Amino acid sequence: MTVPSSSPPEAELPQEPGGQKPGDDAPAGTPGTGDDICPDCQGSGQINEKPCETCKGTGVVTKGIGGA
Ligand SMILES: [Zn+2]
Repeated sequence: MTVPSSSPPEAELPQEPGGQKPGDDAPAGTPGTGDDICPDCQGSGQINEKPCETCKGTGVVTKGIGGA
């Protein structure tokens, strides 16, 4: 019984811990999603002169687009 060792390693997409923001519906780049204005800071990225936690100060969140 032989085990082939020539099989290529499976490509794994790099996952960045913390890359997803609290306000995101899905990680950035997820099909069917897109950037939307953060509902908490209205796109300013700040609330009361402090970075918005929902969008991590980016002013945008990843939201699902459309829907069935
Ligand atoms: Zn925000």
